[in-house]
Amino acid sequence: MNDTPPTPRRDLIAMISAIVPLYNEEESLDELYGRLTASLAAMGRAYEIVFVDDGSDDGTPSLIDELADRDRQVVALHLSRNFGHQPAVSAGLDHARGEVVVVIDGDLQDPPELIPSMVDQWRRGFEVVYAVRRRREETWPKRLGYFAFYRLLNAVSDIEIPLDSGDFCLMDRKVVDVLNHLPERMRFVRGLRSFVGFRQIGLEYDRPAREAGSPKYTFRRLFALAVDGLISFSGRPLRLATYLGLAAVGVATGLSAWIFHDAFAYGKSPPGWASTAVIVLFMGSVQLLSLGIIGEYIRLIFLEVKGRPTYIVRDRASKPRDSARRESDRP
Ligand code: UDP
Ligand code: MG
Repeated sequence: MNDTPPTPRRDLIAMISAIVPLYNEEESLDELYGRLTASLAAMGRAYEIVFVDDGSDDGTPSLIDELADRDRQVVALHLSRNFGHQPAVSAGLDHARGEVVVVIDGDLQDPPELIPSMVDQWRRGFEVVYAVRRRREETWPKRLGYFAFYRLLNAVSDIEIPLDSGDFCLMDRKVVDVLNHLPERMRFVRGLRSFVGFRQIGLEYDRPAREAGSPKYTFRRLFALAVDGLISFSGRPLRLATYLGLAAVGVATGLSAWIFHDAFAYGKSPPGWASTAVIVLFMGSVQLLSLGIIGEYIRLIFLEVKGRPTYIVRDRASKPRDSARRESDRP
């Protein structure tokens, strides 16, 4: 990643947008809103908070509508059902209007207090500032899972995705526009963010545990996200199938040579059914694994080819800030 400090940019931000995907986050919403507002307002620039309600079935939708009603800086975007974290972030990116856009989780695991330092890096000329977790307060199986995932992804993917960086980041308008125009429907935002390039820099922070509520990513969903990330950014698993096939051919050849040798040299027949069973099982698993890998790619091709939208918006609530400003400006 290119992280040499580029030429400083002029100190002007017309507007900062913060995008917050929310799925049943009623418990942390008040505190989130307070801390986010404090952090954004302290910078003395215009800002907007885009809350994306990802088909929540608790009080989240009405809470964000209330906030949008009370606060001109808040936009409440409702998706028509639960589409998932990545689609919700994509919806926010499409609807954010700021020159600088911050993506932040709704469970306060991404501290809003980091935003001013991100903006400082942007002022230095960086176009993407992503947060890097120094420490994670999660259960150890989850930590191990993340650890393995990021390393595996980097080992096999064709682009370099920074280790331990999540979706918490700041992006320049240029980058957001490029992301919004990528034709892919299956969006693995942190991968695409690396793919587009630009001047990027990581900012370290300690990731706290969730404040309230339960993680929306179950182990199964995290595994699915990991597989999608791997498949979207690398063709190497396909090659793995080829290698496994070649290895199986090698083993089979060796074994046959050994059996023929024993038969002709000593007149021995090969021992027992156990070895046969092992070979059959081995071959069966290699074939199933290869089929599975191919199947994963076909699934993604299938999803892309259908061309269905990544998310669907039911409605968008916000106070008309521009017209309101114009009205109050009138003598
Ligand atoms: N989220 C979402 N849709 C989903 C699942 C999660 O919008 O289907 C939101 C969730 O409300 C939170 C963020 O995505 O703001 C990250 O979710 P979570 O905390 O469960 O993920 P983790 O921190 O475990 O990566
Ligand atoms: Mg979380």
